[in-house]
Amino acid sequence: MSVFEHPSFDNHEKVLFATDEKTGLKAIISVHSTARGPSCGGCRFWSYDSSSDALQDALRLSQGMSYKNVMADLPIGGGKSVIMKPDGPFDRDALFQAFGRAVDALNGNYITAEDVGVSPADMVSVHKQTAHVTGLPEGKAASGDPSPVTAEGVFRGIRACVKRATGSEDMTGIRVAVQGAAGHVGSYLCEHLSKAGAELIIADMNVEALQKHVDNFGAVIVDKEAIYDQDADVFTPCALGSIINPDTINRLKVKMVAGAANNQLATREMGAELQKRGILYAPDYVINAGGIINVMGEIRGDFDPSWVKCKLVGLEATLGEILDRAENEGRPSNVVADEMARARLEEAAAAKAAAA
Ligand code: NAD
Repeated sequence: MSVFEHPSFDNHEKVLFATDEKTGLKAIISVHSTARGPSCGGCRFWSYDSSSDALQDALRLSQGMSYKNVMADLPIGGGKSVIMKPDGPFDRDALFQAFGRAVDALNGNYITAEDVGVSPADMVSVHKQTAHVTGLPEGKAASGDPSPVTAEGVFRGIRACVKRATGSEDMTGIRVAVQGAAGHVGSYLCEHLSKAGAELIIADMNVEALQKHVDNFGAVIVDKEAIYDQDADVFTPCALGSIINPDTINRLKVKMVAGAANNQLATREMGAELQKRGILYAPDYVINAGGIINVMGEIRGDFDPSWVKCKLVGLEATLGEILDRAENEGRPSNVVADEMARARLEEAAAAKAAAA
């Protein structure tokens, strides 16, 4: 398996492969950039088919974190970690403690938090071995589960896209197809959308867990494979990445794609394909930055909900700037966002080099 030649390798500063035979830990910690501060990003716990898949995820996700953090104007860099879920039984606390030791070995170059498959309780296990952890349920400035704030940011992003498409922020009757609706972010988001008057079409691997949305919000459940085919206004991916790909793109009937999942586009070119089809795309790492903003409150050591709120409003403004530029220049929104993020990162790297 190549690393430096890997298609997703983007001069990442560090990639740490960590194993621990006793606990079964197999983890990859990827530090993309520390130009603006210590790298920060969640830890994903997932059943990967291979270590190549895990590496691909870690490299792409950590680059995405650099882009996300710089676009949210946070004084942190981009990093991410993945833990390959062991095949057989395992001691979860011991496994996450072993991961904590790996995080600690990076001496604060990487600060971890929750991502898919990881809970605040897991972060407590990590915290037994390292101070470089956030998303803790208790303690000074603890920010807890970032998902509600992510959901609020995504909701604001969807509403801003709806306003562009319809001329009004009114969500009444807007049909939103939510993939991964039973998840942490998906659930909070369904609540926001329903309160705002949207009609929900929902899918998840965990079909039983969707029933609460049927009972509470009158949502309609569809098969997880059918979520792409829905006659809806917005497609909202809140599960995993690469779901906008050559197999799914022609099935979309929506006017907008806006959701929480990281790396929604399987390739960069998918952004142009969406644009060709007249589908407005809200770049994922811009509208899903609520969680990292919440975590930043904890890193600052003085968690302040009003600062978090201000930052969420800032996300909407940044999204507006990207979509304006994309429209005026006739270019895909993901390309415009990437360019803006890279320019800001290069500026930070130059400033860091000059100060060294
Ligand atoms: P989660 O694990 O709680 O939820 C994901 C949901 O997706 C689960 O209910 C799962 O059953 C479902 N799912 C998985 N594969 C599916 C499929 N093929 N079809 C339908 N449903 C499927 O994770 P989460 O914390 O809610 O995060 C969701 C997404 O948002 C992830 O991509 C994550 O990286 C991203 N994200 C999360 C946060 C956060 O604060 N939690 C922040 C930024 C980005």
